[in-house]
Amino acid sequence: MSTNSSMRDEIDLCSVILVLGAVLLIGGFIAYFYPKTIWGIVIGYPYRDLGALLIVLGVVMIIAGAFLRTYAPRKTHAFYCKYCGTKNTEGAIYCKRCGKKIGQGSKEV
Ligand SMILES: [Zn+2]
Repeated sequence: MSTNSSMRDEIDLCSVILVLGAVLLIGGFIAYFYPKTIWGIVIGYPYRDLGALLIVLGVVMIIAGAFLRTYAPRKTHAFYCKYCGTKNTEGAIYCKRCGKKIGQGSKEV
């Protein structure tokens, strides 16, 4: 099935990095402010070092993701055939799979 590879193209690496960074950041904050309590009394923050590490990693990943999104070479805009759903490259007039007209080349349908 060729649809599997085209599906994978849709996953944006920058978005994945940004989401992972955000998750690390949130997890880091939770760990950083997670208190160790005994009978309801806060006696310390045992995960504070881990939390700080996660926060730093999260920030680095978000910066890296934003950097990649800004400077990575843009992909050509693919679009999908409205008849069969196949992904076609930008500027295609006829679907490469079903051959129906999908582009802007002329007025015939
Ligand atoms: Zn098609």
